[in-house]
Amino acid sequence: MLNIILIGPQGCGKGTQAQLILQKYGLIYIEAGAMIRQRALLHDKKSDILNHLVNQKGILLPDGIIMDMICDELDERVSMEGYLFDGFPRSVVQYQSLKEYLAEKQIKLNVGLYIHISDEEALKRLGGRRLCAVCKKGYSIFLEPQRTKCECGGELIKRIDDEPAAIKHRLEEFHNHTSPILQLMKSDDILKEINGEQSIEAIFLDIQKQLDTLK
Ligand SMILES: [Zn+2]
Repeated sequence: MLNIILIGPQGCGKGTQAQLILQKYGLIYIEAGAMIRQRALLHDKKSDILNHLVNQKGILLPDGIIMDMICDELDERVSMEGYLFDGFPRSVVQYQSLKEYLAEKQIKLNVGLYIHISDEEALKRLGGRRLCAVCKKGYSIFLEPQRTKCECGGELIKRIDDEPAAIKHRLEEFHNHTSPILQLMKSDDILKEINGEQSIEAIFLDIQKQLDTLK
């Protein structure tokens, strides 16, 4: 079994690497963001609380609520191959609780993959994002410097969230909640740092090198 926590700031290419890892290793994907959005769609007491919290922008969900959901998810989706956690854990308490819960099931966390890029690089990449005002399709001015309009003909705009001040704020939050978890993973001897400032292929090669030694 291969159980991975995937960590990295926005713009590091984490989503792309997650898909590559899932394809190659056949793991179950526990993506906290999608899980929370889905759970919030059910109309019950829990989803009301969730919606309330999620809509208060930037707020992190309480550890108890998120752990409940993760545990339900792990109970429902049994895997022989293992799990890939993304967007979770976001606090030391969540990390410890996950470890304990997995230990009860005799499952071991094998690796914390940290895809690292500098804040300067993240600022540059996210600052180059554009969004179609009509169909919301995303573009990058680095990949397509000539493009001025969307395929659908809509204007390309920069979201307020992609202005430098907003990006810097998110990066700061990321470092604040992540660094204590990275410290713990280091002392648990499961932290592997991956250089995210390479091509998609090169990053994935580095990840495979790390994972293949664990299998
Ligand atoms: Zn469009």
